[in-house]
Amino acid sequence: MQYIVPPLISGGIMLSYQCTNACRHCLYRCRPDKSPWMSNEMIDRVFSALADESCLQGVHLAGGEATMRMDVLIEAIDSAVRHNVPMDYLETNCAWCLDEQTARKGFEQLRQRGLGAVLISASLFHNEFIPFERTRIGISVAGEVFGGNVIVWTPEGYRALSRLGNEDRTHTLAESCKILGLDDADLWRLHSYVRPSGRAAEILRAGLPKYEIEHFVNDNCSGMLSSVTHFHIDPNGFLYTGGCPGITVGNVRDGLHPRITPDRFGVFCRLFDSGPCGLLQMDEYKPRLAGYVSKCDLCLDIRKQLRRTGKFPELEPHEFYA
Ligand code: SF4
Ligand code: SF4
Repeated sequence: MQYIVPPLISGGIMLSYQCTNACRHCLYRCRPDKSPWMSNEMIDRVFSALADESCLQGVHLAGGEATMRMDVLIEAIDSAVRHNVPMDYLETNCAWCLDEQTARKGFEQLRQRGLGAVLISASLFHNEFIPFERTRIGISVAGEVFGGNVIVWTPEGYRALSRLGNEDRTHTLAESCKILGLDDADLWRLHSYVRPSGRAAEILRAGLPKYEIEHFVNDNCSGMLSSVTHFHIDPNGFLYTGGCPGITVGNVRDGLHPRITPDRFGVFCRLFDSGPCGLLQMDEYKPRLAGYVSKCDLCLDIRKQLRRTGKFPELEPHEFYA
């Protein structure tokens, strides 16, 4: 196999893996622990590289939670403007929207630098860390500041949050489910956009059917790994295609479109051709007796083991596997 990542179309710039939250559904396993932020030098490299992408339609800015370091976020916005890279939106969980005045000051500052839209997260998972009041204030004030250019992700999540009551406090998932009368299967239906991958595959298995490894034989990942409509670039400059955190073949320092061959990128190539079952020959692996909720669950479990061998540089970053 020989492959080159196609021209990038749309994706997210992750300024850090650090977040105010450690949501159960987080694909990138972000959390509050101290974690590096993208340096100014890397920000400039990232947007400079993106400016050379011939098919790029836009990028969104994200963390973790990007507003935890307004200085880094502003540097990224300035760099996008300087390099003429279109910004789709900033993704925020509004943990910082303590009151209307704070929210307005923050959003105004970002709008004045050139940001045109925001996406605000609203889910029962976020509400384990962020009172609904802050989400509501953030959406209302952002609507005024950005002239309606606000995406609420998701509207169903927002409606569920608005029925919880006690807006000024957080709710554990168990509390939310009890108040709203949801069982595990309802929870997945309400958050149907969540992929059983990353942290979701680790701690949200309840309510999902489990399968043995054989179920995933011949299920290759070429479609996901070659997708460039939702790529991510992390604070280290690593590129992740599709929705596959923790597997990187390109980076901003050495090039976003390297020649991918099995000798250089064995994990990627096996996943591309054969899916996670293709990784089974790379190391001795003991299957999980309880089964797997998805092929990404199996993939992550095997990759964690492969990473511990230290033999596969494409399994990055430390923040994801830690
Ligand atoms: S889903 Fe968003 S808010 Fe939640 S931990 Fe991940 S980055 Fe943070
Ligand atoms: S199984 Fe692995 S490579 Fe395939 S889509 Fe899931 S995370 Fe990506």
